[in-house]
Amino acid sequence: MWESLIISVLIGLAIVVPCRLLRVLSTSGMLTAWAFGSSVVFWGGLAWAVPLLTAFVTASLWSKVLPGRDARAKRDSCRTMTQVLANGSCAWACVGWWALSGDPLAYAGFVAAFAVLAADTWATEWGRLSSTPPRHILTGRTLVRGESGGVSLIGTIASAAGAATVAASAGIVLALQGRAAEWWWLAGIALTGLAGSLLDSVLGATLQARFTCPSCGTITEDSRHCGVSATPRSGWHWLGNDLVNLTSIVLATAGWVLLLACCR
Ligand SMILES: [Zn+2]
Repeated sequence: MWESLIISVLIGLAIVVPCRLLRVLSTSGMLTAWAFGSSVVFWGGLAWAVPLLTAFVTASLWSKVLPGRDARAKRDSCRTMTQVLANGSCAWACVGWWALSGDPLAYAGFVAAFAVLAADTWATEWGRLSSTPPRHILTGRTLVRGESGGVSLIGTIASAAGAATVAASAGIVLALQGRAAEWWWLAGIALTGLAGSLLDSVLGATLQARFTCPSCGTITEDSRHCGVSATPRSGWHWLGNDLVNLTSIVLATAGWVLLLACCR
């Protein structure tokens, strides 16, 4: 018990410290990810750690290597505690559910939560490479690049690929452990990931807050710009990007888990 706890904490540390050094995580993000990663390894083991790492490593990789961001934005793309919690707490809840009950649905939810995360980050990073501007997911209106709620062809393809990659990583690690997953289970995970990413775009297009900077006039998703408080413009002023991410992950994952619960 104590041995495996100490090993889990050390494995967690071995993952998050390089991430901090590569500026993928801020200090608060590193500490949160350390607690999360260690508990995943401790209660779940390899079958749980692999989809987590697949989603996290690919998201970080694309944000660092793909063109389309300036050097400063690349350097500052490290994730804070709030972002780690927004993207990880649904999966974390699944780990707790598993630790308490041993219900296999907890694992299905955990992998699906990371499929949504990968679908979302792959879409954002690859969508930047689109030669045509993104379009509003509901109205089709042309949007400014980087504005929430926009979709592009390359972004949507990347989104499906990201979700499928996380599903495949779980399929491979389960097969290596002699517990081959059903094809429909893997397809369901991938579809949940894509659905969650589209839901994120719908929320971003409709309810997410937009602000106008009183200093430079830019329309932004951040409540502060140019060092001053920006004026609310549209959407729910308290619904920022992190909360939109959390909501879309939770809703997509819950839908998938409920579907599985009804079918068994
Ligand atoms: Zn400004």
